[in-house]
Amino acid sequence: MKVYNTMSRKKEEFKPLSDECVTIYSCGPTVYNYAHIGNMRTYVFMDILRRSLKLNGYNLKHVMNITDVGHLTSDGDEGEDKMEKAAKTQKKTPWEIAAYFTSVFFEDLKRLNIEKPELTPKATEHIDQMIEFVQELCAKGYGYETSDGIYFDISKFPRYGRLSRANLEEQLAGASERVEVNNEKRHPADFAIWKKAPKEHIMQWPSPWGMGYPGWHIECSTMSREYLGDCFDIHTGGVDHIPIHHENEIAQSEALTGKKSVDYWMHSEFLLVDNGKMSKSLGNTYTVSDLIEKGYSPLAYRYFCLNGNYRNKLNFTWDALDAAQTSLNRLYAAVSKHKAAAAGNIPSETIEEWKKEFAEAVSDDLNVPLGLGILWKVLKNGEKSHDIYEFALYADAVLGLSIEENSDVKEEDGGEQEVSQEILELVEKRSAAKKAKDFKTADEIRDQLKNMGITLIDTKEGVKIVKD
Ligand code: AMP
Ligand code: ZN
Repeated sequence: MKVYNTMSRKKEEFKPLSDECVTIYSCGPTVYNYAHIGNMRTYVFMDILRRSLKLNGYNLKHVMNITDVGHLTSDGDEGEDKMEKAAKTQKKTPWEIAAYFTSVFFEDLKRLNIEKPELTPKATEHIDQMIEFVQELCAKGYGYETSDGIYFDISKFPRYGRLSRANLEEQLAGASERVEVNNEKRHPADFAIWKKAPKEHIMQWPSPWGMGYPGWHIECSTMSREYLGDCFDIHTGGVDHIPIHHENEIAQSEALTGKKSVDYWMHSEFLLVDNGKMSKSLGNTYTVSDLIEKGYSPLAYRYFCLNGNYRNKLNFTWDALDAAQTSLNRLYAAVSKHKAAAAGNIPSETIEEWKKEFAEAVSDDLNVPLGLGILWKVLKNGEKSHDIYEFALYADAVLGLSIEENSDVKEEDGGEQEVSQEILELVEKRSAAKKAKDFKTADEIRDQLKNMGITLIDTKEGVKIVKD
C-alpha cells in the first residue's frame, strides 16, 4: 500500500511497525456541538483508510479520542472554553453536553457506515495520565509554570514546525501580533499543556499546580501513548490540524520519549459549501440530520465524499448531493440485476483481475474515486452475472455503501417517466425562479418536490426528473 505522508510531502510505501497489527490514532470530535458534514468528511476518510488497510489483510488497533473537556475557541490558547460556553447557553452541565453530543456523533458514524475504531477513549477519563505527562515534561525541562498554567517551551524542541514546514520566525512574529501578549510566556508560540482554572470554570481537577484542566494538545499525546505506545504507524486528522495541533502533539510526545512518535501523518482536505467556508453566520453548517430531513439518505453523502480524493477540497452543493443520491440509487439497481442472474458465467481469472484492479486503486493512497469507477465499469458489463454481484460486495468492503442490504431494489425505470401536471408545473416554476436568480424559491420548490418523491437533476440538456 502507498500513502501520502504529510511529513515528507510524498507518497510512501506503507510499512507498519509490526506485521500483525497496524496502529492508528485519529483526532476525534470535541463534543460541544453537532458535527457538521465537513467534520464527517474527515471521518469518512478515516473509515476508508481503515477499510483499505483491512482489504490488504491488516489487523487494526485504532484509537479515536473523544474530547469531552472543552478547549478554547481558537487553536491557540485564546478565547472561551467551547464546552463551558455551550453549557452556559444551553443551561446544562458540561458533562451533560458532552454525553449528549457524543451519542449523536456515534449515531452519525453509524448512519454513514463509518466503522467505530477499536478504542474511543474520553479525555475526562485520562486526566491523571495527562498530569503525569505534564509533570514528566516539566522534569525534563520542556515545561514551565506561569501564573495561569504550565507551558511548553518550544525553543527547547528545535524540530518544532517540521510537519507544517513553517518558518518559526514568521510564526512567532504572527503569533505575537495575533495573541494578546502573555508576558510570562518565554515565546509567543509556547502553548499551554495545563491550564490553571479560575473559580467559575466548571470542569476542573486537582493537580500539583492547583485546580485546573488539561490543554487540548496534551490529550492526544497522552491517549495515543497510553493505548499505542511511544511509536505508532498512522496519525490522521483534517488539514487544519497540521500547523498547531499536530505540531504541538509531536513536540510534546517526542520531547517526552526522545523517539519519533508517528511514521505516517495523513490529513484530509476540507469540505467547502457553495465554494466557501462553512459558517454559522451563513447558516450552512449542515449536519447529517439536516440531509436526512431534506429527504436524502446519509449514504448519498458518503457516495458524494467517495467521488473526491481525500487530498482535494470537495465542494458541497445540494445539486451535487442530488446527483450522488441518483447515482447511488442507480448503483443499487444495477447491482440487483446482477444478483438475480446465474453464477459461473464469468471466467474466474477475469474476476480476479477486477479485484486486483480495485485493490490496487484503493491501495494507491486511497484512490477511491478510481475504485468506484472500476465498480461501475464492471456493473455495466453486458452479460448479467451473480459473480458480478459478488464482486460488488468485495468492493463494498471498502466503499461501505451497504450494497448487500440494498440489492433487492426494483430496476429503475429508464424510459419516459409519467409525471403529473402538478409536478411539471412546479418544475417550470423552479426553472423560472432560477433564471430570475431567486435561489431561495428554487430551493424551496426542489425540497417540496423531494418530499413528493421527485429528484431534479440539472443537466446540460435541461432538468431531468427522477422518481424515487
Ligand atoms: P473538531 O471537532 O473541530 O476538532 O473537528 C473534527 C474533525 O473535523 C477534525 O479532524 C477537523 O480537522 C475536521 N474538520 C473541521 N472542519 C472541516 C471541514 N470543513 N472539512 C473537513 N474536515 C473538517
Ligand atoms: Zn488530536
